[in-house]
Amino acid sequence: MKKHNFSAGPCVLPQEVMKKASEAIINFNGLDLSLIEISHRSKDVVEVMETARSLALELLGLEGKGYKALFLQGGASLEFLMAAYNLLEKKAAYLNTGTWSSKAIKEAKMLGEIVEVASSKDANFNYIPKGYSIPEDADYFHCTSNNTIFGTQIKDFPKTNIPMVCDMSSDIFSRQLDFSNFDLIYAGAQKNMGPAGTTLVVVKEDILGKVSRPIPSMLDYRTHIDKDSMFNTPPVFAIYVSMLTLQWLKDLGGIPAIEKINEQKASLVYTEVDRNPLFKGFAAVEDRSSMNATFNLTDESHKETFDALWKEAGINGLNGHRSVGGYRASMYNALSVESAQVLVDVMQELERKAG
Ligand code: PMP
Repeated sequence: MKKHNFSAGPCVLPQEVMKKASEAIINFNGLDLSLIEISHRSKDVVEVMETARSLALELLGLEGKGYKALFLQGGASLEFLMAAYNLLEKKAAYLNTGTWSSKAIKEAKMLGEIVEVASSKDANFNYIPKGYSIPEDADYFHCTSNNTIFGTQIKDFPKTNIPMVCDMSSDIFSRQLDFSNFDLIYAGAQKNMGPAGTTLVVVKEDILGKVSRPIPSMLDYRTHIDKDSMFNTPPVFAIYVSMLTLQWLKDLGGIPAIEKINEQKASLVYTEVDRNPLFKGFAAVEDRSSMNATFNLTDESHKETFDALWKEAGINGLNGHRSVGGYRASMYNALSVESAQVLVDVMQELERKAG
């Protein structure tokens, strides 16, 4: 039986996507060739790229609004630098909500002045700062929508007149947002899209071309736009799996449909975290992530029993990140409600055993 996979990323993907992807490795589109042994310029692969790009824009509600979708390499980590390379002339504003925001700030600092508008570092990033102001003379504002490690998520994005850049690596396609409020969105594929190896970049074209520095070809979004995301050999397999996952999401009813399922899973798990005296949540309640639920035991002496229980129940990937400790239940789009229920059952079983 398949494990209940709560891994933080790479993570669970839809079973039907896995099946189609594995078939394409053997015989892609009935060509009697594998997807990974044919030219990226072949008609069938170009079609995969085009479908993946247009599905991304369609699901985000950004078609016909001046945006381009790209599938690049280097992970979200390269986007920390690339965003700054393309947009930072003098000064940029960053909200620091955790490890990934801090890394984005570190890269951007190489290219200009960075104003940290607020940080929750004082409380080990267990909340999302609010009530900060964004300097209107900054070139852009950068934030991280979901903090994978700490289990916090921005619910209300600030209003600003400057371009808004968002790292949505761990919650893209999981909830309804007005995506047209963002000018640049990036996300590594390995949570809600596919295997590691490609990064989705959605960029509003009119924010580009405004910095004076020369931009190396591979780091210039315009290069990739001009070449339809095929400037160099793209990671075809990762993009194909992303395309299949986006198709799966569309068939399911898109973001509104998955959001309901995600809310159901999060509600199951957080209700138990709050009810069960053996557990306490890590993140501030109002900022809790619907993707990554972080929690700790109230009494560490139950650790051995709890770890044995969840492993016996077929749960995988529940250990918290080393900077938070405890547990992290990552509930990405492809995790079933049934898996969330199995976790809740195990938490209740611990209570019975400990009682
Ligand atoms: N941002 C966030 C929010 C992440 O969760 C991660 C990876 N877990 C990254 C950035 C870094 O992504 P990558 O490993 O694709 O560079």
